[in-house]
Amino acid sequence: MEKLAIDGGFPVRSGKIYYGRQWIDEQDIQAVSDVLRSDFITCGPKVDEFERTLAEYTGAKYAVAVANGTAALHIACLAAGVGPGDEVITTPLTFAASANCALYCGAKPVFADIDPLTYNIDPESIRAHITERTKAVVAVDFTGACVKNDEIRAICDEYNLVFIEDAAHAIGSAYKGKMVGSLADITCFSFHPVKTVTGGEGGAVTTNNKEYYDKLVLFHTHGITHDEAQMEDAPHEGVWYYEQIELGYNYRLTDFQAALITSQMSKLPRFKARRQEIVKAYDEAFADVPEILLERDIPESDSCRHLYIIRLDLDKLKCTRREFFDAMSAENVQCQVHYVPVYWFPYYQKLGYEKGLCPVAEKVYEGIMSIPLYPRMTDEDVHDVIHAVKKVVENYRKG
Ligand SMILES: *Cc1c(COP(=O)(O)O)cnc(C)c1O
Repeated sequence: MEKLAIDGGFPVRSGKIYYGRQWIDEQDIQAVSDVLRSDFITCGPKVDEFERTLAEYTGAKYAVAVANGTAALHIACLAAGVGPGDEVITTPLTFAASANCALYCGAKPVFADIDPLTYNIDPESIRAHITERTKAVVAVDFTGACVKNDEIRAICDEYNLVFIEDAAHAIGSAYKGKMVGSLADITCFSFHPVKTVTGGEGGAVTTNNKEYYDKLVLFHTHGITHDEAQMEDAPHEGVWYYEQIELGYNYRLTDFQAALITSQMSKLPRFKARRQEIVKAYDEAFADVPEILLERDIPESDSCRHLYIIRLDLDKLKCTRREFFDAMSAENVQCQVHYVPVYWFPYYQKLGYEKGLCPVAEKVYEGIMSIPLYPRMTDEDVHDVIHAVKKVVENYRKG
């Protein structure tokens, strides 16, 4: 057995590898510098082009570019009519923004539990948490694996709820052959550097519904309209005239970010293919490691995975998750944990949420960690990660 680096042995590799990393090439840099040399650095042609590109790629009728994924979720909730006194059902195994967006609107996030195999929100648990005050469901395609769209759609139709899909992880994924972005009432994307496609920061919202689209456009730019048809006091006083008809925000994306995202999107098919290749290599390598449990996709999902999660079966190991994680770090494979259940955070605890609300999510959380997954990884990187996982498992295996 190889001696662990944390116990003084040699690490599996000399340079650190991290769980996620952007891939910016010369074409991306050129696209950004072209904008910086042009007349418009914000709200120009590149934002329009990106919105068209995203709508075409996802098959959605409309797309609105915004400053980040959190802004996307906020205006999605506003467009859905979420307000004070309402409840919004989401998953606890997500980034905090999936729940914070309800709080921004004065509404209450309600946490439904997850499926123990897919780690995605369990439609039956959504159903169990519906009250008269429920207004929307924010379903997260965790790691890029599609949620049970048909089941969630049926529940939302039955109870007249707005189906918001938090697809921050899932650009490039498809459900029953339809791209994520065209499925829910409103879909939100993020272009943070760890996500599959990046703009530094950036986000977008897609929808097939004109009414939602008009609201999304309004909310992302101060609630101000230049469209006479939307104005109360038209005919207006002159070409300068506009009206503020809602309380909106400045959630606009710059043109240089839009150019970067559009340039990145041209590489999305390649990014997806490489991510899928790495996922397959990991799946095969860990299939016969009983201490490692793997996330399962539903058969309907063609997943463009943003994260690869291993779940430790801690009953079969002599170490804690923390010790496993630290041993991986010493091997120079820097993992991460996605995510601490949202309602465990002090802010949520102060709001009155208690631990134990979603036992499945809490149980899954105990054993999970994300290992490196990004398209620029070489075959050798992938090999190193597999080597490190197996080495650490062997050293901590019980019996
Ligand atoms: C990253 C992320 C967000 C927020 O996106 P930002 O662009 O960072 O604001 C929302 N939800 C999930 C699930 C995310 O991973």
